[in-house]
Amino acid sequence: MSKTVLITGGSRGIGRATALLCGARGWSVAVNYRRDAAAAAETVALVEQAGGRAVALAGDVAEDAAHPAMWAAAAEALGPVTALVANAGIAAEAGPLAGMAPARLRRMIEVNTVGTLLTMREAALRMGRSHGGQGGTAVIVSSAAARLGSAGVFVDYAASKGALDTLTLGLGQELIGDGIRVNGVRPGLIETDIHDDMAWDGRLDQLAPTTPIGRAGSAQEVAEAIVWLLDEASSYVVGSLLDVAGGR
Ligand code: NAP
Repeated sequence: MSKTVLITGGSRGIGRATALLCGARGWSVAVNYRRDAAAAAETVALVEQAGGRAVALAGDVAEDAAHPAMWAAAAEALGPVTALVANAGIAAEAGPLAGMAPARLRRMIEVNTVGTLLTMREAALRMGRSHGGQGGTAVIVSSAAARLGSAGVFVDYAASKGALDTLTLGLGQELIGDGIRVNGVRPGLIETDIHDDMAWDGRLDQLAPTTPIGRAGSAQEVAEAIVWLLDEASSYVVGSLLDVAGGR
């Protein structure tokens, strides 16, 4: 069945791979991004080539006003949104907590945690049947870091994602009765540009052999899990966290 999907952080990495898979199913895709308009435009073109319709929507998920504007623009361009991927997220330079500037800690929580809370709040308001919506599905993109803790490197990032695991459990229960089925994915070491922000040369090459599967994952492998959770194929899965982490 055709859907309109909104993907926060849909312009690159896991978000882009998800957009392309959705496009290949003939779904319409609203591609949110924060600053890289060229990457978002490329993703839109790739979704269209794959068979879907798409639109790029700028907006910082940490900003309150971005959310109503994004949902309204997506609905106007593509029809009402009935599937959401709360994927936008940031990482930062690796190191112990004592060396992290307070502003960095605030931004980490503002984008990864508050940004996802705001994203899900708008999803509840727009898709919830009690608010006049049609219902739908949502996937929250957490991280294996939420259960590993990331000691010595990014405890702030891990904590920002731990909150998303709890949010997935809570919203799974809170929103299913209102027609919205919420689940989460926890990717492990995935080949995307996010590692460039960690100031840790060769991170993927160093850590990939330590994973049980012995390699890093691809954005496509995470996207497959996300799209399954968005689809009716997973209709009895509610409030679950799916690890896509090669056994890590
Ligand atoms: P990525 O390649 O760095 O892409 C990040 C995406 O998020 C881009 O589209 C970026 O847009 C957007 N974004 C960043 N800050 C934003 C904001 N404030 N508002 C709106 N959009 C924003 O990252 P990725 O690796 O695909 O990661 C996607 C998600 O998976 C994140 O939540 C990340 O924490 C999670 N994850 C990734 C890995 C991994 O190994 N890659 C592992 C576990 C979890 P612009 O380029 O325009 O800023």
